[in-house]
Amino acid sequence: MPRSQHSISRDDISPNALKVLYRLHGSGHQAYLVGGCVRDLLLGHHPKDFDVVTDATPEQIKGLFRNCRLIGRRFRLAHIVFGREIIEVATFRGHHQVEDNDRAQTSQQSEAGQLLRDNVFGSIEEDAERRDFTVNAMYYNIADYSIRDFANGRDAIAKKQLELIGDPETRYREDPVRMLRAVRFAAKLDFTITARASDPIPELADLLSNVAPARLFEEVIKLFINGAGVATFKLMHQYHLFGQLFPQIQPLLENPEGKEYQFLLKVLANTDNRINSGLRVTPAFFYAAVMWYAVEERQEQHMSEGGFNRHDAFIMAMNDVLHRQMQRIMIPKRFTAVIRDIWLLQHRLPKRFGKRAWVTLEHARFRAAYDFLVLRGEVEGGEIAEVGQWWTEFQDAGAPQRKKMLANLRGRDGKPARRKRHFHNKKS
Ligand code: ATP
Ligand code: MG
Repeated sequence: MPRSQHSISRDDISPNALKVLYRLHGSGHQAYLVGGCVRDLLLGHHPKDFDVVTDATPEQIKGLFRNCRLIGRRFRLAHIVFGREIIEVATFRGHHQVEDNDRAQTSQQSEAGQLLRDNVFGSIEEDAERRDFTVNAMYYNIADYSIRDFANGRDAIAKKQLELIGDPETRYREDPVRMLRAVRFAAKLDFTITARASDPIPELADLLSNVAPARLFEEVIKLFINGAGVATFKLMHQYHLFGQLFPQIQPLLENPEGKEYQFLLKVLANTDNRINSGLRVTPAFFYAAVMWYAVEERQEQHMSEGGFNRHDAFIMAMNDVLHRQMQRIMIPKRFTAVIRDIWLLQHRLPKRFGKRAWVTLEHARFRAAYDFLVLRGEVEGGEIAEVGQWWTEFQDAGAPQRKKMLANLRGRDGKPARRKRHFHNKKS
């Protein structure tokens, strides 16, 4: 597609990406924008980031840029760092031929057909065949501003279709994360996945258990913290992908009318709204929500079967559920700490007697825990909804009004000492 036949203008491209492209080109290398940024520009969206490919090797790239870092083991890549913006530069990737000795050193495949290492360099044509979806295999050439469209991505964009390059089963076996990418792009771009690409997914979904838990953590963020979390979740549910990532939660989601399903939808809708209005979100909130009812269920079990008190059963349940989840998804410590705080605060928010309301209000996670409780209240109603309402008013109220609210509480509920026995509230 020559420049006259497409809509991508250099004004839409990050100046830093242009710098990288021109420097590579000026040094006698091929240089292209590729993947999501070309796709998004053609769709009239604002790309999240700009990825560059070239025939220069990582070492050659490093020689051209002072601000260059080489990273990655699975894929060796160059990062060109411009303050907060990073332009990722990859060398064209080639095919894997295990019989070829030279290449066997740099590429590796597991018994399930999964690619473990992928450092074979190749031509642009080979690079295009290695990409996942036809809309992701378009290359914007800095030499003449044309687009090279190897898999007819333009047609797929016109039809709003997500089509996989190559044989779907082989491609999903090579990298099961492509199944997650299919639903993510379908939800985010409002595309349909072709039958060819979607039919094998439910069958192959369990291959996700071969994917490293640390990689899945990154993918889950992209799936649910992207402004289209509700649509993504529904597709994941439909294609049996959700249960692969959250095996202990899946049984709780069988009934779409149930509070567990409804709560998750509410949390995702809330997350989508926040993202789409530029507000901050933390993955910890999503994880706390996904696992919440599993924790409650486990707590009940520890109480009825193990005879533990409410508090101890809850602590044990938090540990159990997190531990099991971490076998699938490596949630970093800085997030599990927040998840635990949000959970623990669910039991502290109803206890407002004496100084407790003031202490809770000062907690670093008060706001997240309060938002969480309000969303629970919307599906559970009853006491949880009342407590949420009380905190909404308490936060807005002036000092005299707050005193009155606390006094009323005492008058109505009374006997704080008796409650203390049910759930001793250690400061942790
Ligand atoms: P996003 O908007 O989420 O960044 P993207 O398409 O740019 O979408 P990236 O993960 O940034 O996605 O990858 C950039 C490009 O690299 C993709 O467009 C695709 O061509 C290729 N790619 C990425 N991951 C895979 C994969 N698992 N298998 C094959 N190709 C991939
Ligand atoms: Mg990208």
